[in-house]
Amino acid sequence: MKNKHYDVIILGGGAAGLFCAFTAGQRGQSVLVLDSSNKVGKKILMSGGGRCNFTNLDIQPENYLSANPHFCKSALNGYNQWQFIEMVEQHKIAYHERKHGELFCDESAKDILKMLTDECAKAKVVIQTKCAIKTVSVLDSGYSIKTSQGDFESKSLVIATGGLSIPTMGATGFGYEIAEQFGLSLLPRTAGLVPFTFSDKSKQICERLSGLAVDVSMSVNATSFRENLLFTHRGISGPAALQLSSYWQPGQTIAVNLLPDMDARDLLLGYKNNSAKSLLRNLLSQQLSKSLVLELQNLYWQDHAEKPMAEIPDAALFDVASHLSDWRLKPSGTEGYRTAEVTLCGVNTDHLSSKTMECKTQPGLFFVGEVMDVTGHLGGYNFQWAWASGYAAGQYV
Ligand SMILES: Cc1cc2nc3c(=O)[nH]c(=O)nc-3n(C[C@H](O)[C@H](O)[C@H](O)COP(=O)(O)OP(=O)(O)OC[C@H]3O[C@@H](n4cnc5c(N)ncnc54)[C@H](O)[C@@H]3O)c2cc1C
Repeated sequence: MKNKHYDVIILGGGAAGLFCAFTAGQRGQSVLVLDSSNKVGKKILMSGGGRCNFTNLDIQPENYLSANPHFCKSALNGYNQWQFIEMVEQHKIAYHERKHGELFCDESAKDILKMLTDECAKAKVVIQTKCAIKTVSVLDSGYSIKTSQGDFESKSLVIATGGLSIPTMGATGFGYEIAEQFGLSLLPRTAGLVPFTFSDKSKQICERLSGLAVDVSMSVNATSFRENLLFTHRGISGPAALQLSSYWQPGQTIAVNLLPDMDARDLLLGYKNNSAKSLLRNLLSQQLSKSLVLELQNLYWQDHAEKPMAEIPDAALFDVASHLSDWRLKPSGTEGYRTAEVTLCGVNTDHLSSKTMECKTQPGLFFVGEVMDVTGHLGGYNFQWAWASGYAAGQYV
């Protein structure tokens, strides 16, 4: 039987794959999307707590990690957040802004997926799910793809299989295998936007404080984020920890400023001057939750716990202040791909055109979305990269 022929075959029907599919379809290309999962766009459905943080009002190249920080610029300019917002409005999807310019659906992430699949249907894109890809090979005129649902040929092949996070949602390393098959190098992948875990005494502290959120500034190396930190049974999570995890290397210590809006030394000296008879824990409980203050007291001023402020030497107060503004925590690791929102690194962008996402050494082969070495911050940046890179490739396939 003759293989079915399409102009474009896209492997992976996630955010980037679907966007690329209808962009190409709108140009009159015949497009087939093949996905191994039982339905497309699963990560969209689970994103943003079911409301999909689909973009951000302030998208800058600085919000992306990549070995080549310039690579993302062209695509992000070629299809920006305002264009996506316009599409969301055309589809009459109600949305709202949360903090830091993050845009979420009012109702459900299903609305965003429906918008993408409706656009695909309009552009006559064919979508096949539960399709296992067996082999990909090069023909004189394009590509041959052998699958569990038959064999297909196309002029262009787009790899949109995403990263490794949440394997239960259908994540596989397939895109990386294809990259290697065509001689493209991979940058070592790790879990990003992921909670930290501990094995030292901090683990018990986190367990006891589990559920508590604190507004902090958190840093590692020269990078810091001002956001909420959430204690969990396993360690720390919340936006501050998730953001920082993308910059953390195993073995590194992270610094937490528990009083980001004030000078801790001035605060404690002020307590001593103005509330000489009070206990430090009672005064500090005006700034931080009582349970956290008790944990810190056990760690840093147990000997002075029952002394009135007047009796605590300045040097001891300065020592406590340094821990409040620079609380050092040494994670033993992260929760890994099981709960990570993204995969850091991936296909080396040196091999790809930043304008078209096409492989420089393999004409007709494109990579879009998370599979490549471009990873956004938390806050809608990863979806904007999926839309923008999908659009860039969709214009050229
Ligand atoms: C829990 C969670 C919440 C998130 N929330 C947000 C958010 O609110 N905002 C944001 O910007 N980002 C969020 N992200 C990140 C965002 O979902 C991803 O960055 C984005 O989906 C990447 O798009 P993609 O198309 O490259 O990959 P994906 O959307 O992961 O799509 C890849 C597709 O390829 C398919 N596939 C995989 N292997 C194969 C194979 N071998 N053969 C065929 N098909 C295959 C998969 O089934 C899937 O459909 C979240 C991620 C997670 C895990």
